[in-house]
Amino acid sequence: MNSINNSIFINLNSFSNIEVLLISLFFLSVGSFCSSVIFRLAPENDLNLFKPRSFCPSCSKTIHIINLIPLLGFLIQKGKCKFCRVKISKFYPFSEIFFLLFGVLLIANYGISLATIIYTTIILCFYILFFLDYKYFYLPVSINILLIILGIVFNAKYGLFIDETSLILNIKPILFSLYGLFFGYSSLWLVNFIYKISKKKNGIGGGDFILFGAIGSIFGPFSLPIILLIGSFLGCLYFIFSRKNIDNELPLGSFLVFSSFIYFLYNFMNFS
Ligand SMILES: [Zn+2]
Repeated sequence: MNSINNSIFINLNSFSNIEVLLISLFFLSVGSFCSSVIFRLAPENDLNLFKPRSFCPSCSKTIHIINLIPLLGFLIQKGKCKFCRVKISKFYPFSEIFFLLFGVLLIANYGISLATIIYTTIILCFYILFFLDYKYFYLPVSINILLIILGIVFNAKYGLFIDETSLILNIKPILFSLYGLFFGYSSLWLVNFIYKISKKKNGIGGGDFILFGAIGSIFGPFSLPIILLIGSFLGCLYFIFSRKNIDNELPLGSFLVFSSFIYFLYNFMNFS
């Protein structure tokens, strides 16, 4: 058990109905925020994160505040824009339900605590990176930097993700993150460097180096081989089974993020 769970863990065994409602609404809103960020950061839209207010991508009319309520808004409008009747993407309710389920899992394990908030923030960043890379091969530097900072700060202060190997080797919490950052970034950079020498072009995008560094900063250096292995395996499966016409390019970042999510669930969640 890492220190954050001992020091800040507040276990609330029974929640009142109103608390359940508020917690559900919080995680649904996180999901809603996520899809909105993905839409706004997408290279084809490239909008400010907060302005203009949410609008229908088809007819550009501003969405009424009632219809912005997560899940409920989608149901009230029966999945169609009130003005132009064009179908609203199912990605919105999907993201909201994803975060609701993830929130239930977190609350069951960690209650309302700092750990829950940090884990939510990290998975929120992963979720955004996963879909932006999958769809646009785009990994925003700002989100990767946020992950690096979260990793360094919360490992240094609380030893949040420090694993047994690092404890045995007596690696300082701050170095745990910095080694992770260094080995994550440099390993993919090196692979690309060798590829570039032989093929005279880049094999891996620059965003992927920073992403793998960020993953290292959070989960430490010893997580990296496992995450890379699972990520490559997922990439191979995708390559074999994808019905899309893949011309040379695979969203490596998405596979690394997905594999980090599996690593997170396996190491930090109790399903029993
Ligand atoms: Zn519309």
